[in-house]
Amino acid sequence: MKNNILIDRHGRTISYLRLSVTDRCNFRCQYCMPEKGIDFVSRSELLTYEELLYLSEIFCQLGITKIRVTGGEPFVRKDITSFLHTLRKIDGLEKLAITSNGTILQKHIDELKEIGIDSINISLDSLDKERFYQITRRDQFDKVYSGIVKLLDAGFKVKVNCVVMDGKNEEDIIPFIELTKNYPISVRFLEEMPFNGSHSFNTIKWDYRTIYNYIHEHYKQIEKVSAKPASTSVNYQIPGYTGTFGIIASFSRTFCGTCNRIRLSAIGDLRTCLYGPPVANLRDLLRMNISKDQLEMAIINAVRMREKDGHAAEDQNKKNILESMSILGG
Ligand code: SAM
Repeated sequence: MKNNILIDRHGRTISYLRLSVTDRCNFRCQYCMPEKGIDFVSRSELLTYEELLYLSEIFCQLGITKIRVTGGEPFVRKDITSFLHTLRKIDGLEKLAITSNGTILQKHIDELKEIGIDSINISLDSLDKERFYQITRRDQFDKVYSGIVKLLDAGFKVKVNCVVMDGKNEEDIIPFIELTKNYPISVRFLEEMPFNGSHSFNTIKWDYRTIYNYIHEHYKQIEKVSAKPASTSVNYQIPGYTGTFGIIASFSRTFCGTCNRIRLSAIGDLRTCLYGPPVANLRDLLRMNISKDQLEMAIINAVRMREKDGHAAEDQNKKNILESMSILGG
């Protein structure tokens, strides 16, 4: 295996790939997609499972050690668990994780365990049924919540992602932290980003400082918990609580200096920053029948040119900043 080949011009090593398997989703979260959905791509535009596996093998040979399968909603793609079985076996892949909205994966829990999925992130923006419905436009709270409990019972490492939105779910922040009292769960509060498929914005009320200060008003003691060097979240724990919580400054972009991740969208767009434009389309290169060496060089060069941070990347990307996370690969 070739190690540490993916290094950008600012000296950051890339070891984490977020791999999107579909742009489709069974939810219509207000911060992600308009109610009518987005222009989903045709089947022929999607990377096939064979193509996704071939590219994943190449990425792992170049030094990727962790893959997170995401979407859209990964479990809406047919035969996803067979794909995960094969993906798990790739040489050099140390960690395989999934991000899901938790509605369809329940029936796959035993199989996911068997495959050896290391951790599962579930998106859940409210613990209140009605607010959950308002945000996701789907009446599926009970399914998602019971799914989280089942995943924990099955021994999975579970993180819950909650996007904090002004006037929509700030009331949920404290209940989410109370969930960490008895559950070994990690709740992460995310700043809302402008990737919603419809409108742009330049400021947010609930940035990482406001979220932290709000929590601090409710809990006198908050302990900082150590995190991995490339972690996007700053993590904390209420003393005596079983689980932890974290805050991800996804809009403020305070973590770019240690960012170790790249993204491949379901149609093959490679992004070296969520805020930047695609830097190559690997599906098109693959379908041009170029050699493996040429494909590797295209990836290595694209990574090398990575911008310093998400603000510099955004400057390159004025046209596409509104695209939904379901297209970008969340
Ligand atoms: N369907 C899966 C899910 O629900 O987790 C995976 C895809 S989803 C696009 C991945 C993550 O992106 C979710 O945690 C979601 O909350 C987050 N996300 C989507 N749009 C966002 C936005 N505008 N701001 C912040 N987070 C966003």
